[in-house]
Amino acid sequence: MKNRKKDVLRKVFGYDSFRTGQEEIVDNILLGRDVCGIMPTGAGKSICYQLPALLLPGITIVVSPLISLMIDQVKALNEAGVHAAYINSALTENQITKALYNAMCGRYKIVYVAPERLETNRFLEFVLNADISMITIDEAHCISQWGQDFRPSYLKIVNLIKMLPKRPVVSAFTATATQAVKDDIVCVLGLNNPFIKVTGFDRSNLYFEVRQPNNKDAEVLNYVLSHRDDSGIIYCATRKNVDKVYAMLAKNGIAVTRYHAGLDNDMRKANQEDFIYDEKPVIVATNAFGMGIDKSNVRYVLHYNMPQCIENYYQEAGRAGRDGEPAECILLFSPQDVIINEFLIENKGENNEFTEEERKAVHDNDIRRLKKMRYYCSTKECLREYMLNYFGEYSGKDDCGNCSNCSAVFEEKDVTNTASVIIKTIKECHERFGTSVITGTIRGENKAKLRSYGVDRYSTFGMCRQMSESFIKGVIDKMLLDGYLRETDDMYRILKLTETSDMLISGEEHLIMKWSERKEEFKKEKRT
Ligand code: ADP
Ligand code: ZN
Repeated sequence: MKNRKKDVLRKVFGYDSFRTGQEEIVDNILLGRDVCGIMPTGAGKSICYQLPALLLPGITIVVSPLISLMIDQVKALNEAGVHAAYINSALTENQITKALYNAMCGRYKIVYVAPERLETNRFLEFVLNADISMITIDEAHCISQWGQDFRPSYLKIVNLIKMLPKRPVVSAFTATATQAVKDDIVCVLGLNNPFIKVTGFDRSNLYFEVRQPNNKDAEVLNYVLSHRDDSGIIYCATRKNVDKVYAMLAKNGIAVTRYHAGLDNDMRKANQEDFIYDEKPVIVATNAFGMGIDKSNVRYVLHYNMPQCIENYYQEAGRAGRDGEPAECILLFSPQDVIINEFLIENKGENNEFTEEERKAVHDNDIRRLKKMRYYCSTKECLREYMLNYFGEYSGKDDCGNCSNCSAVFEEKDVTNTASVIIKTIKECHERFGTSVITGTIRGENKAKLRSYGVDRYSTFGMCRQMSESFIKGVIDKMLLDGYLRETDDMYRILKLTETSDMLISGEEHLIMKWSERKEEFKKEKRT
C-alpha cells in the first residue's frame, strides 16, 4: 500500500512528498477510520481525500457547497486522468441523468455533489445501488450552527450516511473550526472514533497590523505606491467601496483591476486572470474574490473595511504569502466598519432554507463573531496569538515578533480610575446605555440627546471632562476585552457589568492599558 500511495501522489498529482498532516490522514482513511481534518486554506486538503479515493475499492462522494470549486477540481482530476464528475445546478437535468447513469455504472471514482442534491430521488437511486467507499464532507463547518456559514442542507448528509447499506468511511474537512464547530462536526455527522488532525494555523511569514487612519483612501494609495513592484489584494466590504477604491487607484496610475458579484461573469473572469497572471498585479475586491485562487506571490492583503468575523479575516489575509516569503496583512479599521457589518448582518438576504429559530441562532452568532473581530482591532496584545487562540491554538509566546502590537513600543498606564467612573455610570443608569452615551456622560457633553436621557444629573457627569472621546472608548474596549464589562449581543451593544466589575472599583484589581499615542491623555488620567 505504501508504495502505491507514493506512486499515486507522484504519478497522478505530480508531488514528490506529502505536506504536514496529509499522509497521516490518508493512512487513517485507508485503514477505514473516519477522519476530521482541520487545516488552513492552502494546506492541501484535497489530496487528503482525493488520493485515498483512488485507492479505495468503490466510489467516493464529495459533498461541497462551492460549485466553482467543484468544477475546477473535477477539471483538474480529469486532466490528471482520474474519472470524476459533479452533480450540481451547473448541469441541466439531462446532463445530471447522464452523469448519474455513468456513476451507477461505476465509471467515476469520485463524484462531487452539492448538498441540496443529496435527497433527490435520482441521487438516492445511485447511492443505494453503487459501491460507496467514502463520503467526504468539504467545508464541513457548514454543518454547525456555530459556524459562520451554517447550511441546513448539510444536515441531509447525516440521513444519507444512515441510509447506505454499508457504512462508508466518513471524512470531513474544513479550514476554520473553533472548538464548538469541531465538536459539532464530530457529533452531528456522527463520526466514529475519528482521527482528528489540526495542522498549524500559524503563518509565521505573515505580518499582521491594524491601523486606524483618518483617510483610508490616502492610506491605501500610499501603501500601494510604496509597494509598486508587489502584487496585492485590497478587500472592501461593499461593491460600492470596491468601485471607489479601484477608480482612485486607477486614476493614480496603478495597474489595478477589480472583482465583485455585480460584474458580469466574463468580466469577473477576465479581471481575475489579469490579476493571476500579473497583468494587473493589484486587485480590489469584495470577499466574493479568492475562493480557489492559488496565486503564490501576493505580497500584501489590505482590508479597506473590517471583515465580519475572524474566520473571514484569517482566510482572506491568508491569501498573502502562500510562497512562504514575507507578506503583510493590514487591516484599516474605522468605527464605521462595525456599523456597516451590523447592517449587513441585519439585512442578510432571506434564506428559505432556514427556520425562524435557525435564523435567530445564525444572527446571534454573527453578532458574537463580529464582536470578536472588533476586539481584534482594539487589542494591544499580540494579533497573531489573538487569532490563533480564536481557533483554539496556543503558541504560548508573548511576542511573535511579526505583528504591529509586538513591534510597537507601548506606554503602560494604570487607567483604573477612569474604569471606575465608567462602572459607576453604568450602575447609575441601571445598565441601559451603550459606549457612546456612557462616554458622553463622563465627558459631560452638552448634548440635547444626553439631557433627554437625564444623564446630566448623574454623579459622574463630566467627571472625565478633560479626556478625549477616543481615549475613553479605548478604556471601555479594554474593559470588554478583559471581561470587566460585557455588551449585549445585539446591534445596540448595551454595556453590562460582570462579576469582576467591582474589583476595579474596590482597587482589588487594576486595569493596565497600553497606549502608543496621545501620551498627554495619561497625564490627565492621573489627575482624576
Ligand atoms: P486547501 O483545500 O487546503 O485550501 P488545496 O488542496 O487546494 O488546499 O491545495 C493547495 C495547493 O497546494 C494546491 O495548489 C495544491 O496543488 C498544492 N499541494 C497540495 N498538496 C501538495 C503536496 N503534497 N506537495 C506540493 N503541493 C501540494
Ligand atoms: Zn505578535
